Amino acid sequence: MTDRWVLRGAKLTDGRAVDIAIEDGVIRAVTAVGCTADGQTMDCTGWYVSSGWIDLHVHAFPAFHPYGDEIDEIGVKQGVAVIVDAGSCGADRIGDLAASREKAMTTVFALLNVSKIGLQRIDELSDLAWLDRELALHTVHAYSDFIVGWKARMSGSVVRNNGIQPLLIARELAEASGLPLMVHIGSAPPRIEDILPLLEKEDVVTHYLNGKSNNLFDGNGRPLQELTEAVARGVRLDVGHGTASFSFRTAEAALQSGIGFDTISSDIYRGNRQNGPVYSLAHVMSKFLCLGYPLEEVVDAVTVRAAAWLRKPELGRIQAGDHANLTLFAIEEEPVVFVDSEGGTRRGDHQIKPKGVFANGRFSAC
Ligand code: ZN
Ligand code: ZN
Repeated sequence: MTDRWVLRGAKLTDGRAVDIAIEDGVIRAVTAVGCTADGQTMDCTGWYVSSGWIDLHVHAFPAFHPYGDEIDEIGVKQGVAVIVDAGSCGADRIGDLAASREKAMTTVFALLNVSKIGLQRIDELSDLAWLDRELALHTVHAYSDFIVGWKARMSGSVVRNNGIQPLLIARELAEASGLPLMVHIGSAPPRIEDILPLLEKEDVVTHYLNGKSNNLFDGNGRPLQELTEAVARGVRLDVGHGTASFSFRTAEAALQSGIGFDTISSDIYRGNRQNGPVYSLAHVMSKFLCLGYPLEEVVDAVTVRAAAWLRKPELGRIQAGDHANLTLFAIEEEPVVFVDSEGGTRRGDHQIKPKGVFANGRFSAC
C-alpha cells in the first residue's frame, strides 16, 4: 500500500507557504498551498518547514559515560534528522558506533577521533602511541559511507605535554584521506595562535564562541589576526555550544566584528541535554535569534551549510525525487532566560520549537 502524506501550508524561512507531497518516504512535489493531490493531510499552518536539521557536533556513544547519549534522544526527538558524532570514537570503537545506527530513526555520521581510544579517556591525545596513522586511514576506508572527517581536540587537558604534535598528525591524516578536520579549541596549551595557521579550507573550528582565555578574540573583543586569515582561507566556524564552550560576551564580540558562524551545532550529550545549558539544538538556535541573527541565517546554519560541509547537498534542500528529510518547527512567543556556558544570561521573547521530523523518509513527532 502506498503511504501518501501532504504537509499543508508550512512556511519556508523565506516566508513562502507550500504544500509538500510525500509518497513512500520520497518527496513527490513542492507546490503552492492547495495545489497538491490527496493523501493523509497534516495541517502545518503556522509552522515552518526546512530541510531536516543537521547537528554537526554531538556525542552519541552512550558507552563513553558521561560524554554520550542515545542517538534518537538528541536526534529525531528534538527535530534533528541528521547527527554527526564528533569524535566520540577512534578506530577502536567506531565499529560499535556504526552498528548502533541500526536501531535509530536518526541518520548518523561520524568524525573519527585521530586518537584510536576516542573519548574512552578525556586526555586521548596525551600519548602519541594512540595516534596510529595506518590504523586510522584503514578505518576511514573501511567505513567510508559513515566517517565524514576527522576530529582532534586541541586543548591542554587533552594533549598534556604533546603541544601541537597531535594536530600535525591530524593534518597529515586529513591530507592522506581527502577528508576535512574538525578541531576543538579550549584552554592552552597549545596557543590558539599556533593552532589556526595549521588549518586549511574546509577544516572546521568548533567551540569558536568559547569564552576561555585562549579564545579567538583579543581582550578588546577584536578577532585575532590568525582568525581573520583562517576565515579568508576558507576555514569554517562552528558553534559547538557544549557545557563549557559558548559565551554570550564572545558571541556579541563576534557579531560586532562580523565574524559569523558557518554552522550551529550543540555538542550535546546526556548531561548538558538534561541539565543545560544546551538542552537541544533548537534551544541553541534560539540563542542566536536572541542575539539578533535572522531566522533564515540560523536555519541555513543547520541545513544547507551543514549539508555542504558534509558534501551531501541533497540533505540541505527540499526537492522532488529526494528522500524526505524535513523538520517542521514553530516560533513560539514566550519569555525565556537563556544561559550560556559561563552563567551569563540574556532575556528573549521567542523560541524555536520542533514539531516533527522526516528523517530519511520516516516521520517522527516531536
Ligand atoms: Zn570539544
Ligand atoms: Zn564535543
